[in-house]
Amino acid sequence: MVKTYAVIGDPIDHSLSPNIHNAAFKEMKMDCTYIAYKIPKEELLEGLESLKKINISGFNVTIPHKVEVMKYIDKVDEDCSLIGAANTISNENNVLKGYNTDMGGFLDPLHRRDIKVNDFQVLLLGAGGAARAIIAGLVKEDAKSIMIANRTRDNANSLAQFANKIGMSTEASLLNEIRDVTNYDLIINATSIGLKNESSPIPTKSIRKNSIVYDIVYNPMNTDLIKGAKEKGATIIYGYEMLLGQAIRAFEIWHKTKAPYEVMKKAVLGVF
Ligand code: NAP
Repeated sequence: MVKTYAVIGDPIDHSLSPNIHNAAFKEMKMDCTYIAYKIPKEELLEGLESLKKINISGFNVTIPHKVEVMKYIDKVDEDCSLIGAANTISNENNVLKGYNTDMGGFLDPLHRRDIKVNDFQVLLLGAGGAARAIIAGLVKEDAKSIMIANRTRDNANSLAQFANKIGMSTEASLLNEIRDVTNYDLIINATSIGLKNESSPIPTKSIRKNSIVYDIVYNPMNTDLIKGAKEKGATIIYGYEMLLGQAIRAFEIWHKTKAPYEVMKKAVLGVF
């Protein structure tokens, strides 16, 4: 019988996950399909019921359901309970188990480049769901220090509290107070700025050549921040790399076999 997988969220038509997973199924000759399923914020429970009715084998979860979905699943893995959000769910005999592959997905491009963050001063822009998974990753890898900069101070403060709770004291500031970034070894954009081709969330003038700039916005691939960082000769990590990192982890959870990374990467890059 064909196994069905999905990504749920709203909006969902921009999702690249169907391209990535269907390319992998084709490569591996697997009798599976992966669909995008729009579920509005207030219809999550009904949406989950219909997924169970079609005997969904697994699904990814994106905005706005990553936190809310935790209420309706039967089990969670360690990362998922630490972060308080799930982006990957497996369904085995009607038991839904939640995972968070955003954290591992974020770390994946750093590991592939053999970059160790443990002596890094990090500037993290944003304090939403993705920033939370990133903080968990940075704490796990023992970053030296983290400055959180966000549009809304309260959200920056509550993310700083979360970091504190899981073992790292961080500073928090307003995004528009960030001027000079010379001190930072790693600068991460985890705001939504860039999605609509906006200007960089921070001035790029002071980015160092030996810094790393990681923009998790993946569409467009070359955000204004990435363009500015390239001009400064910094090392660039693209948002699609995190997207791929979380997708290969989801694939391996569901199918218990190694994901075809290069094929999945080609499927993403083919879209740009
Ligand atoms: P979220 O929970 O909604 O958080 C959005 C963040 O962006 C908040 O910090 C918010 O600040 C900030 N923000 C939104 N609009 C802004 C504006 N006009 N000016 C300044 N700050 C603004 O979303 P999320 O799940 O964390 O996702 C954030 C971004 O990461 C999205 O673009 C998403 O597509 C991308 N993402 C990429 C991957 C990947 O695999 N590459 C994975 C997850 C997410 P406030 O606190 O002030 O509202």
